Amino acid sequence: MSRDMMPSFELYQPDSLEGALKLSKDVENSWLVAGGQDSYDWFKDRAKRPDALIDLGDIATLKGIRGTDAGVEIGALTTLTEIAGSELLKSNYTVLARAAARVASPQIRNAGTLGGNLCQDARCWYYRSGVDCYRAGGNTCYADTPQGQNREHCLFGAARCIAVSPSDCAPAVVALEASIVISGAGGERVVPAEEFFIGPSVDITRMTVLKPGEIVTAVRLPKKWSKVRFYFEKVTDRATWDFALVNVAAALHVEGDIIKDARIVCGAVECVPRRLKSVEQAVIGQPKNEDTALIAGRIAAQGATPVQYNGYKVPLMENLVRRAIRDS
Ligand SMILES: Cc1cc2nc3c(=O)[nH]c(=O)nc-3n(C[C@H](O)[C@H](O)[C@H](O)COP(=O)(O)OP(=O)(O)OC[C@H]3O[C@@H](n4cnc5c(N)ncnc54)[C@H](O)[C@@H]3O)c2cc1C
Ligand code: SF4
Repeated sequence: MSRDMMPSFELYQPDSLEGALKLSKDVENSWLVAGGQDSYDWFKDRAKRPDALIDLGDIATLKGIRGTDAGVEIGALTTLTEIAGSELLKSNYTVLARAAARVASPQIRNAGTLGGNLCQDARCWYYRSGVDCYRAGGNTCYADTPQGQNREHCLFGAARCIAVSPSDCAPAVVALEASIVISGAGGERVVPAEEFFIGPSVDITRMTVLKPGEIVTAVRLPKKWSKVRFYFEKVTDRATWDFALVNVAAALHVEGDIIKDARIVCGAVECVPRRLKSVEQAVIGQPKNEDTALIAGRIAAQGATPVQYNGYKVPLMENLVRRAIRDS
């Protein structure tokens, strides 16, 4: 498979959201591109072949981090480097700044955007190499076979496909009870981050609720979770750029030593960021200490159904959740 250069395509560079929405409605077989760090791999591998790219990079209104009466709004085209370095985010919603700082490499974070990070496609090796698996419209899953390479795959929510949500920012925005602002031909809709991501039982060909032609314009973080206790940790195979084997994002309201409210979310264990509601229920009302952390860890991976090579993710998840409670 040649990766020397990309096949040619038409390039549109609208400078307004309205222009981009019109193009994505009118231009056939088009592809939205933000930083291009997920998209260009597909094109170089010839695994996806759009006829036209709609580059969102010139739309100024989709960029920037602003304080609002309700919290903070982040334009979808804001780069991960800006998010990782934002004083506003670091002092109010550190968990997202930390998650963004752990994505890929400095070069990818300089180009990659929050919207692209949340909308990125599955990273299953088989699928990315262009094979005709279920997710690509075929009739088999190559990862879920006796010989399948599946150590990165899911513990929960398998439905023909066992790929995971690869995003580092996704668990953080779910932990922060963020809303995703989406524009389309029919106007604007605002979707809770938790409902933005969808698993294969809902639609095996998509990772999010986005319909063709829809554009994520912003991510809103509510005041409710500003300046609480946070935790983000990502475990990778390598101590350089790498996707998460498991990551965890947590937000905890603590008064005195009592946990009053909590949102705890793991990535890379399911096709969507997995909110651990049973852990949240178990820790709310309890003191934030080692005993509570141990209980949280013990129940974190309940219901997991590992495939051949990813059983190590169960203790990993348990330990990450334990640390999230103890060290937030
Ligand atoms: C070597 C390498 C390592 C990586 N490591 C990590 C990692 O550790 N953690 C991690 O989370 N990710 C990682 N990634 C994935 C990805 O590059 C980044 O997540 C990046 O943030 C993607 O953002 P982008 O703006 O470049 O996306 P793009 O490639 O521009 O877009 C990605 C997808 O989202 C869609 N999209 C983009 N913006 C919008 C929007 N506003 N509205 C609707 N749809 C939109 C595009 O159509 C496309 O399908 C890695 C990628 C590479 C190549
Ligand atoms: S896990 Fe999903 S993406 Fe990977 S081969 Fe199976 S169906 Fe395809």
